[in-house]
Amino acid sequence: MGRVRITEITARSILTAQSGRDAIGYDYTINPYAGCAFGCEYCYVTKLLFGENAEERAATWGDWVEVKKNAVALLREKTHLVAGRKIFFSSATDPYQPIERRLGLTRALLEALFYAYPSLLTIQTRSPLVARDIDLLRQFGDSVEVGMSITTEDEAIRKIFEPSAPSIPRRLEAIRQVKEAGIRTHATIAPLLPCDPQRFASMLRPCVDGYWLDKLNLYDKKAKLLALYRQHGLKRFLGDRHYGVVQEALKEAFGQ
Ligand code: SF4
Repeated sequence: MGRVRITEITARSILTAQSGRDAIGYDYTINPYAGCAFGCEYCYVTKLLFGENAEERAATWGDWVEVKKNAVALLREKTHLVAGRKIFFSSATDPYQPIERRLGLTRALLEALFYAYPSLLTIQTRSPLVARDIDLLRQFGDSVEVGMSITTEDEAIRKIFEPSAPSIPRRLEAIRQVKEAGIRTHATIAPLLPCDPQRFASMLRPCVDGYWLDKLNLYDKKAKLLALYRQHGLKRFLGDRHYGVVQEALKEAFGQ
């Protein structure tokens, strides 16, 4: 990946209502940015892009980020919709990708959300930067949870599929800090990548309260992902067997 192109845009909305087949158990999603500098090889967001430049935007995924400069103003206009609702933050970008360190847009949205009283706010990230906002997140009490995406325990595997994302040790350390601050946490193992099940489960156990586990979906990346698995001798990790073994190891480690 080369240098990431950052531009500002004026968004039409910041709360995306969830309904129908694609709903994920939440009322709204919030995405402060469009695009994502982490550019994971398996990212499913590229299949959701639409509009005239969708193909080019998908092909250059990871190289561009758009900042929704009016996000906080849009949210403030709609806070009445958030009260008592479940919010997923974020579904189509990483709210703590590198540009967030300088802009603090996610933090400003969290400040606005605090006075909107959602019943559940789920933060989803691959970035240790989330630990910066522990002070703010704590104020949400039981209505917040933080999910850290950790897809393998093996840095060599992480570098194949998520070369521009933070290292696994940094993610583990950050989510451990969030947990120790009394905030509910989970590891989002989505998608599950090749790993050593026992090592992975025992590495996660002290750092998070629970886990979400999901298989790798090939979607529109089938040829590219299969080539990566083949090239690195990982084909045995495709399919249900690996998923089942990891699921058992996690159940044993977490007792759930
Ligand atoms: S961090 Fe999430 S949104 Fe960003 S590229 Fe990876 S999977 Fe996609």
